[in-house]
Amino acid sequence: MTQLQQGTIDTFRGQFGGPVFEPTDAGYHEARQIWNAMIDRKPALIAQCHSAEDVVAAVNFGRDQSMLVSIKGGGHNIAGNAVCDDGLMIDLSQMKDIEVDVENRRAFVGPGCTLADFDAAAQMHGLATPLGINSTTGVAGLTLGGGFGWLSRKHGMTVDNLISADMVTANGRQTRASATENPDLFWGTRGGGGNFGVVTRFEFQLHPVGPELLSGLMVFPFDQAQSVLTQFARFTETMPDELNVWLVIRHAPPLPFLPESVHGEPIVALAICYAGNPEVGEKLIAPLRSFGDAHGEHVGVQPYANWQQAFDPLLADGARNYWKSHNFVKLTDDVVRVALEFGEKLPSPHCEIFIASIGGQTGRVAHDAMAYSSRDANYVMNVHGRWETPGEDEHCRQWARAFFEAAKPYASGGAYINFLSHDETERVEFAYGDAYKRLVEVKQKYDPENLFRVNQNIRPG
Ligand SMILES: Cc1cc2nc3c(=O)[nH]c(=O)nc-3n(C[C@H](O)[C@H](O)[C@H](O)COP(=O)(O)OP(=O)(O)OC[C@H]3O[C@@H](n4cnc5c(N)ncnc54)[C@H](O)[C@@H]3O)c2cc1C
Repeated sequence: MTQLQQGTIDTFRGQFGGPVFEPTDAGYHEARQIWNAMIDRKPALIAQCHSAEDVVAAVNFGRDQSMLVSIKGGGHNIAGNAVCDDGLMIDLSQMKDIEVDVENRRAFVGPGCTLADFDAAAQMHGLATPLGINSTTGVAGLTLGGGFGWLSRKHGMTVDNLISADMVTANGRQTRASATENPDLFWGTRGGGGNFGVVTRFEFQLHPVGPELLSGLMVFPFDQAQSVLTQFARFTETMPDELNVWLVIRHAPPLPFLPESVHGEPIVALAICYAGNPEVGEKLIAPLRSFGDAHGEHVGVQPYANWQQAFDPLLADGARNYWKSHNFVKLTDDVVRVALEFGEKLPSPHCEIFIASIGGQTGRVAHDAMAYSSRDANYVMNVHGRWETPGEDEHCRQWARAFFEAAKPYASGGAYINFLSHDETERVEFAYGDAYKRLVEVKQKYDPENLFRVNQNIRPG
């Protein structure tokens, strides 16, 4: 980075609508915080935007001053790509406007909104679009990388529901990307991360959802994991699109419906959501109870917006996190064997093995329809290393890496870029597969100097 003169910073501050934080300013440290406590980067400046015009000013300033530029939406990215050392952080976290057009089932969402913000606004009208499972995640980063959650089997990936994105590209121009306006940019934006510009407003398709849904948890002892996992693998192959069941191996949190003696013990849990008539859902999920002899369950009809927040306490910010993930077409006996082997040696009470079922509608979109191309991924397994102290770093990371290597032979092509850790830059091309070549062309057109490179980077041609 070039050394900035104080006068240059002051001039920028005078032209910018929001606060511009330097390291000694009150508000600087709060603004640079992100979800993963493993990442501790200190930008030279943080430009906290309040409008699309602020974003234009920040992009122009970063480019003209040859600064490294990072973009912060919800700050949840595991690789810490919201924040950079010594550069300019464009902080969008305050841009939280949301408008819901009930008649046309559309939502217009600001880039600082969390999933909780979006769900709350849309659920007031009994509407939703598929989002992730931790409500403090940012809509922006989740959408730009693909996005999946409880509703994805029925309504597709989050990007499948993106209608348009208003953006500021590297040249500082405000541009719209949609099926009819700059379709190449729209193609790349749906899965290509923040590589092509800063999105200032997302337009989404909404669907009638709930507002109450059948959802909840069934918790089995880990010594029954072989049976639970094997049956989960078969059951999820044929379940209807309305039903979603995910599997988690971890130590039991102190959930009130579990006996105290189980708290802290290794368990395997099924997380269930039925996006349809609860009576039908009850019948469909009945067989899950025979997967083992459960410690307990908490399944019932509850507001969808509450279920969207059910995992928040286990995924709060401030912990140290390192993730590795694979996509699978099928959970074969080999995958089950490896998951059991590493489930037995979880290195911290906060570590988890998470197997998300996607498939359904996510697999019915052509693989080249947009940059997100992993349409054969019926399961995404996230080896979720999570712990509290730096002293545990090496042990926990080694566990995640060893598990990743052991499961690799059974994984499909592609990977979910939103789950890549900071040391996985060499997996970006693999993650996109055939789409990568076209992404390079779009990058070359919209960001030839690679201004936006603090991300899962697509390098210009
Ligand atoms: C606890 C937890 C649970 C998760 N669960 C799910 C899940 O269920 N499903 C799922 O699909 N994903 C899930 N994720 C992954 C999540 O999708 C990614 O972490 C995503 O990057 C978060 O977006 P963000 O806006 O919060 O992150 P940020 O760190 O702010 O941004 C992520 C990336 O997007 C870029 N970016 C952000 N905003 C913009 C913008 N407006 N314009 C251009 N680029 C931008 C950033 O530069 C960065 O590269 C989860 C993550 C966490 C930590």
